[in-house]
Order: sequence, then structure tokens, then C-alpha cells
Amino acid sequence: MPKKPAASAEHAGPSVKLSLRGATRLQGRHPWVYRSDIVGANDIPSGALVRVHDARGKFLGTALYSSSSQIAIRMISHGSVADLPALVAERIRAAIAYRKELVSNTDAYRIVFSEADFLPGLIVDRYNDVLCLQILTQAMDAAPVRAAILQTLREALQPAGIVERVDARIRELEQLAPLQSRLLWGEKSSTVFTMNSGVRFHYDGLEGQKTGAFLDQRENYAAAARYAHGEALDAFCYQGGFALHFAVNSAVHSASHPAARCSSVTGVDSSRPALEMAEKNATLNGRELEWIEANAFDLLREYAASGRRYDTIVLDPPAFAKTKRDLEKALGGYKELNLRAMKMLRSGGILVTCSCSYHVNASDFFEVVADAACDAHKSFRVVENRGAAKDHPMLLNVPETSYLKCLILSVSN
Ligand code: SAH
Repeated sequence: MPKKPAASAEHAGPSVKLSLRGATRLQGRHPWVYRSDIVGANDIPSGALVRVHDARGKFLGTALYSSSSQIAIRMISHGSVADLPALVAERIRAAIAYRKELVSNTDAYRIVFSEADFLPGLIVDRYNDVLCLQILTQAMDAAPVRAAILQTLREALQPAGIVERVDARIRELEQLAPLQSRLLWGEKSSTVFTMNSGVRFHYDGLEGQKTGAFLDQRENYAAAARYAHGEALDAFCYQGGFALHFAVNSAVHSASHPAARCSSVTGVDSSRPALEMAEKNATLNGRELEWIEANAFDLLREYAASGRRYDTIVLDPPAFAKTKRDLEKALGGYKELNLRAMKMLRSGGILVTCSCSYHVNASDFFEVVADAACDAHKSFRVVENRGAAKDHPMLLNVPETSYLKCLILSVSN
């Protein structure tokens, strides 16, 4: 009888064994395993593709390995993977195809959302003809993977430029060499994009927060604009996402809500550069809005005390809870903001209240907003209970992919 080879090519290379807890997590279709759940590993290079087994040696799939993150393993397939760049290219094409069905009336949307598109550590946003990518894991940073990402995006979308936005803190945590945000390919790093059938924004790939705009709010802008009316205040307005939608008389005002119009719109933010961009965006749309540079907490307190009233208020603060430990403080912050806004709403008014803190889950948020309504002595209807736009998919078994909450409330008395 011919002898079997000691190890087939398929079984060569780095591999890990997981504790029962780690294996159970994967069986629950969560892609992450923490370092403390790795019970056996051979010498694994940073960013390597690893074969994953349970403690008894049963093969569970293939993962991306990080030598520095507490999340040591991010699953990429429940089978074997021979060629990571080819798999990444295929997944990017699938992510683009997924959005073809779901995204309309915009030339700006997220194309790849990391784990939610089965590409852990890769984010790609499209702003008209400029693509913006972020690389957040060792495996995605490897030169052959980077080359596959660029080539696939160029072939599939023919952009005029591709920029990379660097999250310096994440690169440090992943022990990756420091990099500057820069134009990676092509000639353009700035452009103008249009969403919700006609609201226009400037985009500069090398400035601003996140990858440049808060694309996850795109569908919420349109939804909120259907109900917004009278005097409107957009608190934490950044470059004017909600405010501009309220001011621009576009297709967002559907036939079913013909009355929804704002007589005046004021945006408040503490960042001057954000407001300068907001002002430019208003000009681009042929509108004049009021922009106030202020701490929104102080301003709301002052306005509430002086008897100021609005018909529509948006609250879209930054993530107050960056970790679980901040939860109590964050809830206090949401309560205060919502209470002040609720007190300032006229009868029939609309409150659009958001939270992008993952650590404040939907029921915590609901509860804190409900609490604020009690203290404000007002009753609200939940007109819409919303999350992130569909180009920011949420994985059923991965709560971490769901973070944005947006409630649209109408005050009844
Ligand atoms: N609504 C915006 C996104 C808001 S992001 C959009 O749809 O584009 C949160 C914003 O809050 C940022 O622009 C940040 O500059 C601002 N910010 C943070 N702390 C603030 C404070 N205390 N007062 C006012 N603005 C603040």
C-alpha cells in the first residue's frame, strides 16, 4: 500500500487550536476569537492566514491572524483558503453587487464595511468619483492584499482617485508602520457628491472626520426631512447633513408629506472646520443657513432657559461611550440632551435623536429617551425607529455591526 504523505499541502502553514469557548463563539457565527481562547498555536507571522481547529483538532475554517490585537482571530471562511488576495477581490466584487440592489439616489455610499462584508479590517467608501479606503488589520495591510484591493476597485468602479485615510491609533494598536493619509492612486482626492436626489456636498478625502462624511445617516436624512417643518435646529451638525436636507427643497419631500418644509434652519457644532465646510455646502445648494460654533450642551441649556422654541430638533452627538465603562456617563449625557430638546419643542414638533455608541444598545437608548420624556412631561409618538443606511449592513449574529440608532419622534402635547 502506498504511504500517505505526512502532511498534505493543504494542512501546511500556520494553525491555531481554540478553547471550547472560542470554538463555541465561531459556531455561533461570530467571526472574532480573543487571544485568551487560543490554546495552541505554532509560530504565526503577523497578518497570516491561519487554519482554525477546535481543541479536539476538528477543522473550523480559516482566519486572519493579528499578532497584537486582543482579537487574535477574525474568521474569513468556514472552509480552506488558498489565495487571500483572490478571495478579497471576490468579496469586494460581491459587496459592490450587494449594493447595486439596495442603494439608490446617491453617488456616495459605503462599498465595503469590514466584517459585515466578510472582509475584516477593510472599509471602502465611495464619494462620487473618489474612493476612500481604510485598512484596520495586519492581514489587509499586506502588500499583495493591498494590490488586489486597488486593482479590484479600479476595475469595478473606474474612479478618478483612491485615497487612504489612516487611523493612526489603530495602526499603532495593530503594530503597523505609521502612514500618512494620502492619494493612493489617480489624480483626484476631492470632489462633489450628491445624495437623496439632489442634496450636494463637497468632499475632501484628506480632511474631515471619519472617511469624510457620515454616510451611515444618509437614509435618516431623507426620512427626517419628510417630517421636518417650521424652525429647525440641527445640533452636532458637522458639515450640515441634516440641516441641508431640511433646507433643500428636493425630492426628499415626498408627495405624502407636502407640508414638510422648514422656514429656518440653524446648525450647531463645536468644530469650526466642520462649520466652514457646512457653509460651503449651503452655498453649493444655493441656500443660506445659520451656523453657530458652540458647545451644544451649553447652547441647549441656555436656549431652554431663555424660553427658545423650535418645531424640529436633531440631536446627533458623537459616541459618548467609547468603552463599556463609560456607559453610565454616556446615558447621563443622552438624557440631558434629550430632555433639553424635548422641553424646547413646540406642540406637533419633531425630535430626531441619534446615538452612534455601540456600547449604548437600542434598548438602553430607548429607555433613556423615554426617561427624558417623563421629565419633560410630554408624550411622544415613535414615528420611525431607524438604524444605519443599508449600505452599512448589520450581521444578524454580530451585535458589533449594529451601532447607529435614530428615533424620529413627534410630540403630542
Ligand atoms: N449629524 C452629523 C454628524 C455628527 S458627528 C452628520 O450627519 O453629518 C458629531 C459632531 O459633533 C461632530 O461634528 C463634532 O465636531 C461635534 N461635537 C462634538 N462635541 C460637541 C459639542 N460638545 N458641542 C457641539 N458639537 C460637538
